[in-house]
Amino acid sequence: MPRVYNFSAGPAMLPEAVLQRAQAELTDWHGAGASIMEMSHRGKEFVSVHAEAERDVRDLLGVPDSYKVLFLQGGATGQFAAVPMNLLRGKSKADYILTGAWGKKAIGDARKYCEVNLAASSESLKFSTIPPFEDWALSAEAAYVHYTPNETIDGVEFHWVPETGDVPLVADLSSTILSRPIEVSRFGLIYAGAQKNIGPAGVTLVIVRDDLIGETLPMTPSVFDYAQQAKADSMLNTPPTYSLYIAGLVFQWVKEQGGLSAMADRNEWKAKKLYAAIDGSGFYRNPVDPSCRSWMNVPFVLADPELDREFLAGAAQAGLTTLQGHRSVGGMRASIYNAMPEAGVDALIDYMADFEKRKA
Ligand SMILES: *Cc1c(COP(=O)(O)O)cnc(C)c1O
Repeated sequence: MPRVYNFSAGPAMLPEAVLQRAQAELTDWHGAGASIMEMSHRGKEFVSVHAEAERDVRDLLGVPDSYKVLFLQGGATGQFAAVPMNLLRGKSKADYILTGAWGKKAIGDARKYCEVNLAASSESLKFSTIPPFEDWALSAEAAYVHYTPNETIDGVEFHWVPETGDVPLVADLSSTILSRPIEVSRFGLIYAGAQKNIGPAGVTLVIVRDDLIGETLPMTPSVFDYAQQAKADSMLNTPPTYSLYIAGLVFQWVKEQGGLSAMADRNEWKAKKLYAAIDGSGFYRNPVDPSCRSWMNVPFVLADPELDREFLAGAAQAGLTTLQGHRSVGGMRASIYNAMPEAGVDALIDYMADFEKRKA
């Protein structure tokens, strides 16, 4: 069976070159006579894999030395709680910007630990846009400002970074990290679950500024305590070794592709093509304000939802899989992360045009 173009929102497609390398090294990692997943996380082999992954991610994102890079567990969802537990630092309030389904979940967990000031929300507009920065009601007493630069379910992405002055900016970058360059120094903390653009599920990347850690709520579990994890090189307990190994291979692959500006060029181009095909049809529609459409997740609906099943079945037959929209919003969603080649987007556009011709 040839490999399909998998449009899954996550766990998502990985670069084929990475899978092949992992396959070649599976039973015998670098002449060790064992798989990397069978080795101690404290042994020199895995310690070198871990160190190289950190070096590469620092390199790719240009992480300043004054930031810690942590590889944790518990997914981005774990960070919904870890962020307030670590960053409140004696304060009782945090600002949240609500632009989609994931931000809503982050707020739900934050409310267990602090007063959430909902500084801006597009919920009444069904998350089809981003509230303009001038309208945000930020609080001077907030411990941090949390936002979701790319809302994976709603297909809404910030193409700008909010300026929050002395209040640290916290970003859930799960579905857009490594898709373009970012200026890490604009953020107090960045986190991302791996299974969209980094690697397999099981590892969570956290990048946090040194001066923000070390003052956790007393209830904080030690595995979620950034300072303790930083001191232990993210190995307070056994890390997800195989996931981290694959993430390391993905970092190397991104470097080979030309790094993040090359990824950004490709991603912008793929997204532009797909949105043009949707907007140019009389049959498909994307509900998001064009100024904040996501490069990574492209939701769209058919003119007649009765045709959804047929659309999906035909797509699967053409080797285009997992196009069904999130169960909470319906319709379709094409996730086109770094590992989705332009040829996959082209194949989807061709299939959509053909389906429209036959059905419209
Ligand atoms: C997928 C996703 C999450 C949830 O990630 P888990 O690793 O499953 O906890 C959170 N935020 C965003 C933006 C996501 O895309």
